Amino acid sequence: MHIHNLSQQNSVLNTFISEIRDVTIQKDSMRFRRNIERIGEVLGYEMSKSLSFKNSEIKTPLASCSMGLLENDIVLCSILRAGIPLHNGLLNYFDTAENAFISAYRHHKENPESFEIIVEYLACPDLENKTLILADPMLATGQSMVATFEALKPFGIPKEVHLVSVIGAQEGVDYVNKTFNKNTHLWIAAIDETLNDKGYIIPGLGDAGDLAFGKKLQQ
Ligand code: URA
Repeated sequence: MHIHNLSQQNSVLNTFISEIRDVTIQKDSMRFRRNIERIGEVLGYEMSKSLSFKNSEIKTPLASCSMGLLENDIVLCSILRAGIPLHNGLLNYFDTAENAFISAYRHHKENPESFEIIVEYLACPDLENKTLILADPMLATGQSMVATFEALKPFGIPKEVHLVSVIGAQEGVDYVNKTFNKNTHLWIAAIDETLNDKGYIIPGLGDAGDLAFGKKLQQ
């Protein structure tokens, strides 16, 4: 897998990440959502440099010029609900993308520390020969990303797959790295050291879905 960890370079992206982590600033849910969206825009922009472009003639009012324009057929798939602001950020840059949504949640068995990923809702266009972008803001264990990809298989074989994440734990990055095809790209804004016993990324930021949309009653 090609892993692109964008926080390794100093840029304004790290300001956005520091704000979603900051226990005071992150309480402003509108700012939290907007920062995740901005991170999606930066990750989408960086990813776009690896896509395919075709020269096209553009007429200005004064003359013509040739410009390379994106030719990939993109399908953007996000996991509800935390994925929505990241999805919006990516969609801001990929104007013609088709969209897929999937619900995946952690079902805790008897032991609160162990869980399985349950996929329920799924709406997906044809994926055959398309460029599939799978967006999940928190790459904790990597199980949701893998469960989502498995659930999408009946919809066709994509030409290429890009995983997009805001913060990952090293464990989750290692898991997707060994599970996905070696041509897959991972575009990620930060990789943290570890997970706690409840599967939260440390230092991470807490619960991305709750911070974006409010606390839920379900565990
Ligand atoms: N999901 C979250 O929202 N936060 C984590 O740390 C892990 C998964």
